[in-house]
Amino acid sequence: EHIAVAIDGPAASGKSTVAKTLAKRLGLIMVNTGAMYRAVAWATIQKGVNPAEASDVVKMLGEVEFRCGVENNLSTVLVDGVDPGEELRQDAVNGRVSKVAAIPEVRDLLVRMQREYLQLGSVVMEGRDIGSVVFPHTPFKMYIDASEEVRRKRREAEGIIDDPAARDKEDSNRKSSPLVVAEGAVVIDSSEMGIEEVVEAALEVLKE
Ligand code: C5P
Repeated sequence: EHIAVAIDGPAASGKSTVAKTLAKRLGLIMVNTGAMYRAVAWATIQKGVNPAEASDVVKMLGEVEFRCGVENNLSTVLVDGVDPGEELRQDAVNGRVSKVAAIPEVRDLLVRMQREYLQLGSVVMEGRDIGSVVFPHTPFKMYIDASEEVRRKRREAEGIIDDPAARDKEDSNRKSSPLVVAEGAVVIDSSEMGIEEVVEAALEVLKE
């Protein structure tokens, strides 16, 4: 029986680093669901679709093929056979991803693909709604948090132009699957912790 470790939290909370480290140590598939929402946002740029027009975005879903896979134990996403690669981190994508992520049809499609990963093996999946929506029954749930200031500084250190607070606000206030602490999730505040400490705390959650 394959297991799912659900890791949620706001932007730049350190959850990706923790998820990657956990997956590597435990030999699990690491699934980055943010990359899937980013791939949809990237596709709207390629196709000249206005992300604020939900019906146009939904129409695009029927015309563009999104395919998820695994390479070296990491999730991959192809848009009409093309890997957008580092372009998923572009400012233009940061600026519109929360808009496409608020569209219920986008979420339905991606949540379905996310659940399918369990057929391939056990996973560490990180996102915003993994413990609340994608795998609400998994006993392994954590919510990685960090102060707004720490998160902004982490983004700056990565040289990424992003406004995590603005995305969090949109992600927390949307109607469909907003960012919440899932029932049963252990909250880990990483503001004052190094990566190793956060990983240790996460491993404790898995022991329970
Ligand atoms: O994790 P990352 O910052 O790359 O996610 C980018 C955006 O994708 C988030 O700001 C959010 O709008 C959306 N997202 C989501 N649900 C997820 C993962 C990401 O709505 N499970």
